[in-house]
Amino acid sequence: MAAPPFALEIRPAGAYLPALDLYLDPDRDVPRAFVSHAHADHGSGFASGTVLASSETMRLLSARHGPLAGEQVVDWDASLEMATDRGMARVSIAPAGHILGAAQLVVDHPFGRFVYTGDYRSGGGLTHAVGKAVTCDTLAIESTFALPIFRWPDRAQTIARLIEWCRRHGDEGAVVLAYSLGKAQELIAHLVAAGLPVVAHGAIFKMCEAYEALGVEVGVRAGAVRPYAEIGARAKLRGALVAPPRAAATPMIKGRRGVRVAFVSGHALVDAQVDRYRADAAFVISDHADFDDLMATVRASGASHVYTTHGDAVPFAYELNQAGIPAEARERHAIDTAAEEVGS
Ligand SMILES: [Zn+2]
Repeated sequence: MAAPPFALEIRPAGAYLPALDLYLDPDRDVPRAFVSHAHADHGSGFASGTVLASSETMRLLSARHGPLAGEQVVDWDASLEMATDRGMARVSIAPAGHILGAAQLVVDHPFGRFVYTGDYRSGGGLTHAVGKAVTCDTLAIESTFALPIFRWPDRAQTIARLIEWCRRHGDEGAVVLAYSLGKAQELIAHLVAAGLPVVAHGAIFKMCEAYEALGVEVGVRAGAVRPYAEIGARAKLRGALVAPPRAAATPMIKGRRGVRVAFVSGHALVDAQVDRYRADAAFVISDHADFDDLMATVRASGASHVYTTHGDAVPFAYELNQAGIPAEARERHAIDTAAEEVGS
């Protein structure tokens, strides 16, 4: 295999671009990092260093973790210059789909263009920008759901089925288990648009408020979404209660009689995950690309060299090589499957 035009290394803190002396979504404290989006597994390495991120990601990170030590916002329609040992590079970002603020890193350099997708999904939503492939020479792409068994059902139809399910069980209380940042806000926006009253778990409500502070309405200001604390444990649920999967084992849900529970995630494709949360129903809706989306994105990028990161990095690199696209796995985490931690 010929040497790639742009090297990506794995160091103890995570993926590292030597050319720019820049870490990508590190999980330990580093001097300088690009943080692709505000999920917990991306960018826990910013305690003292400088963070490069979109303005939305910066605000969501602050809302979740408090003020950052050093911020360098990368605007959507501008670029930064960064010195390398082989001349200046221009650094910019492009939408990655996934959740509000999620960005792909685009590095233009005299020896080619490098793109890092971060967490990625093609297509748009009510609460985030449309993710799409960026043409490049070297592509580092996430591979969270990169096995050929991961093929999502039609998204719009699945969301419509979820809305119908919530409507059917709303009188007894329809609990929707969804990751608290991104997935929950997107689903809430859909439920509210369908006219359903929504109660949100505290952590989810806080992120709904953060979305609305960034100009993305999900129904809080409109009075259609209320925090769980306002309802209390004794009051009967009406409509949908949206809570993170970990809440399934707490009195908030376990202590209520008659409620129905739906698990909403890419992980819902795997029965064991549905059993884990004792869900009555499962809806396969993911904020990540599935296998076909990942393959299509790699092809559309035109990259002559691909690094796969995260999750199914090794098998996905194998699939790409089988398809005639030179690829190497760059694994950041040994174990990275819990829906609760990585988003879904
Ligand atoms: Zn994510």
